[in-house]
Amino acid sequence: MKHLVSITDANIPHLLSSAHNIENTFINYKFNKILTNLFYEPSTRTSSSFASAMYKLGGKVISINDVNYSSVAKGENLEDTIRTMGTFCDAIVLRSRTAGQAARAAFVSEVPVINAGDGNGEHPTQTLADLYTIHKEFERLDNLTVTFVGDIENGRTVHSLDKALPDCEKHFIDTFDKSIWPASDIYYLTRVQKERGSEGSYRMRKEHIKHIPEHAIVMHPFPRNEEIPTWFDNDPRARYFQQMRNGLIMRMAVLSNIFTEQDKYLDT
Ligand code: ASP
Repeated sequence: MKHLVSITDANIPHLLSSAHNIENTFINYKFNKILTNLFYEPSTRTSSSFASAMYKLGGKVISINDVNYSSVAKGENLEDTIRTMGTFCDAIVLRSRTAGQAARAAFVSEVPVINAGDGNGEHPTQTLADLYTIHKEFERLDNLTVTFVGDIENGRTVHSLDKALPDCEKHFIDTFDKSIWPASDIYYLTRVQKERGSEGSYRMRKEHIKHIPEHAIVMHPFPRNEEIPTWFDNDPRARYFQQMRNGLIMRMAVLSNIFTEQDKYLDT
């Protein structure tokens, strides 16, 4: 894997097994690598978990978590910023405002570009964290019923997860007014992407919850607004905090795979 622009770039079974090894085996990593976190949009989980993953692997991080304090504020274009940072680091995590920007960056980049969300395009590492969560729960990624509820049009996490689950039955609900949700194994809720022009306000209500089967799980990439009431957090079906923890492990897996490949290439 040179770049991770779309979820289709990922070797999902390999990354699931790397994440499993990282979580269950003591491995002392010593990657002497530098990662750039380059964020054109706000982030808590993605930027911090990439930084944490990098530190746990023994590497270091250059953080540009607000491009307004970089030369972007002086009018520098994406390509020049990517080429510049590529001379200082070994991989770039890029969050951008418009779909297609990660691909644009990968096109000119000397070092791997990892798409940390490009507008309403994709968010492959969130999806890998989601897949790891689903796989831990059901031990498979096929033959499951998944109901997506929320911002289907502009939710990039929905777009990537939808692509990654070709062999599942999927339902898409973009209104919370629908009082009965289809019986499913997974309910994947998302926030209204107001910054992309989406409108509305959605809330999971008691009448929805009473129809969620006992074995099912409720996921959300976070941040949440009012979609899931906080009193649901202790419900045994809530999985969103585990998703975050799995995101850290999966990002360690992604980075270690990228760096291992990079070193192999250098050795030859
Ligand atoms: N954190 C996720 C993303 O960056 C979900 C969201 O922001 O609604 O796409």
